[in-house]
Amino acid sequence: MERKLEAKKKKKEREEGRGKPPLSKAELLRLQALSAIPLKELKIHLVKVKSNGRQTFIASEIEQKRIPLKDISIKNTAAEIIEACKGATVKGKFHESYLLPALSIKPVLNAESPIPREKLNPPTPSIYLESKRDAFSPVLLQFCTDPKNPVTVIRGLAGSLRLNLGLFSTKSLVEANGEHAVEVRTQVQQRADENWNHAGSAQTWPCESSRSHTTIAKYAQYQASSFQESLQVSDQKATGKIIKFGTNIDLSDPKRWKPQLQELLKLPVFMRVSSSDNMLSHVGHTILGMNTVQLYMKVPGSRTPGHQENNNFCSVNINIGPGDCEWFAVHEHYWEAISDFCEKHGVDYLTGSWWPVLEDLYQANIPVYRFIQRPGDLVWINAGTVHWVQAVGWCNNIAWNVGPLNSYQYQLALERFEWNEVKKVKSIVPMIHVSWNVARTIKITDPNTYKMIRHCLLQSMKHIQILRDQLTAGGKKIFYQSRVKDEPAYYCNECDVEVFDLLFVTSESGSRKTYVVHCEDCARQNSPSLSGVVVLEQYRVEELMSTYDNFSLVR
Ligand SMILES: [Zn+2]
Repeated sequence: MERKLEAKKKKKEREEGRGKPPLSKAELLRLQALSAIPLKELKIHLVKVKSNGRQTFIASEIEQKRIPLKDISIKNTAAEIIEACKGATVKGKFHESYLLPALSIKPVLNAESPIPREKLNPPTPSIYLESKRDAFSPVLLQFCTDPKNPVTVIRGLAGSLRLNLGLFSTKSLVEANGEHAVEVRTQVQQRADENWNHAGSAQTWPCESSRSHTTIAKYAQYQASSFQESLQVSDQKATGKIIKFGTNIDLSDPKRWKPQLQELLKLPVFMRVSSSDNMLSHVGHTILGMNTVQLYMKVPGSRTPGHQENNNFCSVNINIGPGDCEWFAVHEHYWEAISDFCEKHGVDYLTGSWWPVLEDLYQANIPVYRFIQRPGDLVWINAGTVHWVQAVGWCNNIAWNVGPLNSYQYQLALERFEWNEVKKVKSIVPMIHVSWNVARTIKITDPNTYKMIRHCLLQSMKHIQILRDQLTAGGKKIFYQSRVKDEPAYYCNECDVEVFDLLFVTSESGSRKTYVVHCEDCARQNSPSLSGVVVLEQYRVEELMSTYDNFSLVR
């Protein structure tokens, strides 16, 4: 018995390489030399063939050719991309755009210069629906999302669809949730086409307003008394008055606002708050005011300053009434010119409050769409359209964003994603996270949209693989931690850039231990060697590879 055990032990030692006599110096050198030779393998592909009715195999050698990283395109497989990354020597930070200029699909706009004055005031595309059925026609979606149409008004849509807008009247809102929070902007009432400086001596772009908070019930009282007052004052077009605008009222809670939100399901699918072809329905979490409804309560003169929507997404706005709103809109093509005006006037284009001086725009050859939105009218703001709005009467509006999956929307969203990074402004839509989610779940039928998304995934994979290799080469361990349900996308604590897949995490030891996510740059800024930083990986490389390889154009 004991002998047997001894024999077993010997065998085990042999297997583990222990118990062997020590290697001679010569043998050791030979082994070292062997290990210095890079391991090569030759892939052999067995091909089944039939010859004379008998099955045989022929072996075909597949030469291992590594494609240089610069030659990698969306035509390559995920394995080829990863191989190319491993073969590339990237010194320092790898930073390439997620967009490919060759894939751009922006429309070529009227190159007339100068544009004659009458064309600087183009008529706003207004759609009158003949029947309820027309609202659900694919032609309407096509028209609204056409890159040449910055804005579309669908006249009387609420009436055509028999929407009960009364659910959003001030009376109903007070009855439903009177104590609900309202953000208030205090502003100076002015004519819609004017914006005076504080001294009242000249027109200008900045239009700061102070912020405070109240409740729906209290704002309702203010709105009603403002209306009563106007009946007594003979001068209807009072200007210079201090007014309050009730804004960004959150209607996201499905229990609290059930009848209201249910009513909006009567809208055509592409306009709904949530739908499968809406990129915002693939974020995986709530983005208040974007994939949820917001309400605005207004008195005459209430101003929504100039802006493009977050990440250039489309927006839907319905006027509940009883009063009208006046809108101004400019095609995305001109946003940089408008941004330059803002800079000249010392107001930040992306984060500041500004009201364009119309004459400045005309002088700069920029066409401005201007129109009245009456109760029941739905305004569709196409991707990237710059717009600003002023209430003409007493009214409420509801609004939200949508991201129809087309190439124009996708391109503009990514462009703004990258511009935000340059300007250190947070991209409210985490586009890399959304792109992978879309690739995983949606069948894309449009070739341009498909190519753009695939290119973004390719770039994302390159970033991840190169960063992985750099970290590993530097001896930094990467810990896999799978994502959990409803886990949000991550942003860098310092610079607000989206951090996808590879998270640089530090723990703040305060009263409660919290974890903070950083991007690589900011993590290294605090700790060049990344000591005290844990690198977490949220997806296995194989997972991303299979998503990439399975993402295909559906015809
Ligand atoms: Zn950062």
